Amino acid sequence: MSIVRKLLRPNIATLQPYSSARSEYFAKDAIFLDANENGCGSTATGGYERYPDPYQRHLKSKMAAVKRVDCNQIFLGNGSDEAIDLVIRAFCEPGVHEVLITAPTYGMYEVCGRIHGACMKSIPLDGDFDLDVEKMLSGLTRNTRLCFLCSPSNPTGNVLSRDRITALLEGFAGIVVLDEAYIDFCAELSLLPELKKFKNLIILQTLSKAWGLAGLRIGMAFGDPEIVDVLTQIKYPYNVNAVTQSLALQALDRQALMQEMRAVIVDERVKLCHELQRLSFVQRVFPSRANFLLVRMNEPVSVYRFLVSRGIIVRDRSQLPGCAGCLRITVGSREDNRALVIALNEYEVARREKK
Ligand SMILES: *Cc1c(COP(=O)(O)O)cnc(C)c1O
Repeated sequence: MSIVRKLLRPNIATLQPYSSARSEYFAKDAIFLDANENGCGSTATGGYERYPDPYQRHLKSKMAAVKRVDCNQIFLGNGSDEAIDLVIRAFCEPGVHEVLITAPTYGMYEVCGRIHGACMKSIPLDGDFDLDVEKMLSGLTRNTRLCFLCSPSNPTGNVLSRDRITALLEGFAGIVVLDEAYIDFCAELSLLPELKKFKNLIILQTLSKAWGLAGLRIGMAFGDPEIVDVLTQIKYPYNVNAVTQSLALQALDRQALMQEMRAVIVDERVKLCHELQRLSFVQRVFPSRANFLLVRMNEPVSVYRFLVSRGIIVRDRSQLPGCAGCLRITVGSREDNRALVIALNEYEVARREKK
């Protein structure tokens, strides 16, 4: 039995998936009287009276070319958040199985895990926000099914070291989900080229960040075809709608535009980092490979409120483990970043006058 089969919940392993009308027969030129659609037309312009392809075949084949993987290694979801949810559903028996996460990390792993009744175990990152492999491995039990890693890490922005990720992949008998939501900002560091080496690796990516498609909701899970099949069997049949499929297909042809924007954002990130370091109330700007900066400062809540009063919204992360005093600031457009720096300089002046 394969490792994936062994790790699956029994109810999922034996599931007879729902077969939608459109998954049994999908072609362009036929008279479709199988799905109870409205053959007369649509109330929306654009012809949306037909159900979309449940397997997103066109989009996957383009994605396969862009990402240099095989079609059967790709799962597409309604955001990568859907994939997070499905992976937990597939592998974690409620009340029995454990999920290992790092502290700090992206909040959805814990929320999804708790919704599904998984026991969440959280292991601190080390002083450089890198993996503490020994601590991670010693946190494993025979009931640990999943481990979520995030690299570049949200909310810290750094990349986890490749050696440590692979050490965990090799030392752990369960599934490692590596969330690369921000990997387009440092594509050369992706573990995607290594996917075939590790049967227990799932890599999450998304079109929401560098590709600028957060509103469309497209996330990818790359993994062994056996894992992709399982996720496909348990998803909602039409989880990626027709508008999203067709716009994402167009967007993947505009890789050059994505790269251009990425370059601007990376350039802006470097400049913003320098500007922030000049502020007297800023203690530290953490190194980032993503499109945001984690910034440690005096009185983060008062800075946060001041920015809100100027119509600038950042994320207060000061309550997260290891992130005391920290705000997480997305690198915006040139104009956005300029407005931010002006506001922060005003805050600095106001603070000086108060003293
Ligand atoms: C933004 C983000 C996601 C969510 O991506 P969607 O595809 O928009 O659901 C996933 N993981 C991390 C770490 C993120 O920061």
